[in-house]
Amino acid sequence: MTHLDPAKHAWMTRSSTRRVMDALDNAMPSASRFVGGCVRNALLNEPVGDIDIATQLLPDAVMAAAAKAGLKAIPTGIEHGTVTIVCEGEPFEVTTLRKDVATDGRRAVVAFSEDWSEDAQRRDFRLNALYADRTGIIHDPTGGLADVSARRFVFVGEPEERIREDYLRVLRLYRFEAWYGSGAPDSKGLEASARLKDGLSTLSAERVWAELKKLLSAPNPSKAMEMMAMQGVLQQLLGVNGSLRVLRAIIAQDVEYALAPDSLLRFAALVGGGPERIKTMAAKLKMSNAEAQRLNGAVDPAAREDVHKAFGDLAAAERAIMALGAQAFEDQARLAAAGETAPPPRDWRLLAKYAAEWKQPDFPVSGGDLILLGYEPGPMLGDALDELKAHWVAERFEPSKDALLARLKQ
Ligand code: ATP
Ligand code: MG
Repeated sequence: MTHLDPAKHAWMTRSSTRRVMDALDNAMPSASRFVGGCVRNALLNEPVGDIDIATQLLPDAVMAAAAKAGLKAIPTGIEHGTVTIVCEGEPFEVTTLRKDVATDGRRAVVAFSEDWSEDAQRRDFRLNALYADRTGIIHDPTGGLADVSARRFVFVGEPEERIREDYLRVLRLYRFEAWYGSGAPDSKGLEASARLKDGLSTLSAERVWAELKKLLSAPNPSKAMEMMAMQGVLQQLLGVNGSLRVLRAIIAQDVEYALAPDSLLRFAALVGGGPERIKTMAAKLKMSNAEAQRLNGAVDPAAREDVHKAFGDLAAAERAIMALGAQAFEDQARLAAAGETAPPPRDWRLLAKYAAEWKQPDFPVSGGDLILLGYEPGPMLGDALDELKAHWVAERFEPSKDALLARLKQ
């Protein structure tokens, strides 16, 4: 029988986990089990992140159990059964067992339950419907253990029916395949996802964008993205098919230099295009202002030529850094390197380091200096200053104040 040895899985026994489970067990013994990502990842030998707990206790009883143990509890989604208990700074999502009684494709109407297998039936994939008690015994109402060694995500029940209940499951399938899958994905699930892709348009932009970012944050999502492109899911989602070639090259940079996946840069690589396209995407996906700004910087054409020249020309690099800022410059240098087919991509990392450390020197001339030379405050003075500054930049910030003022007098 498969069993998770608590001695080998520190997340099961660390003090925060123990205190939360103690609190729940004190209210009703053996009524609470680990579920979802933590059990799945432990079985797949993948790092465990947040801990989700399923319980037979009703939400009010969970709140009371936490209070009795002196733990903070937040009713994060109490009407559908979820209470977040915070212990030693760590959030534990505790959700009462539920069964779906009706779904409208977006929001399920749920009833609380005491039955573990009813709770398992409403979960998306068999690998996500595994429960572990504190001793590590696995409870597997849907047959998910069979999927562990194949690392394959199989829907609980009929894929078509499950997708119609919540179209986000299409994207979750690609996300989990990207992160943990190996070999060919379950063909029934994949076919149903492709067939029902039109339903993705019923999802809120926020859910789609959050899910897309999680997908793009996988160490190597190329294969999943290729499937999405092939099945027309990307087209359905974004209105464009995107460039897998540039995306693959960015991912290759991450792999080669052991960089943390950067979902925004990967998105920029995928969708390509210029500021107009980014604007459309930002609105369509309801991105935050900060996200839209970062993406806009990554495609801003203002210094396009200088970015391309930057690889062999530090003066061009400095002009581009000044025009774009260090972050957008680095993004553009990476995208430029990724966009090249042959010869092999030039090393954008040196440029990124240069950009991060480079400080633009202070422009030595002020409006006051010009007034001393007899200029009247106004547009003429502004134009003269701009002209001087452009000259100073073109000369790589070398001309001194005296030299610049002498130039004016000429
Ligand atoms: P991770 O936390 O690594 O993203 P996870 O599997 O824990 O992965 P969560 O979004 O935290 O994902 O959800 C916890 C569990 O709740 C899932 O494992 C799954 O059983 C269930 N679940 C979450 N979202 C859905 C959904 N849209 N449809 C069906 N079940 C879901
Ligand atoms: Mg989780």
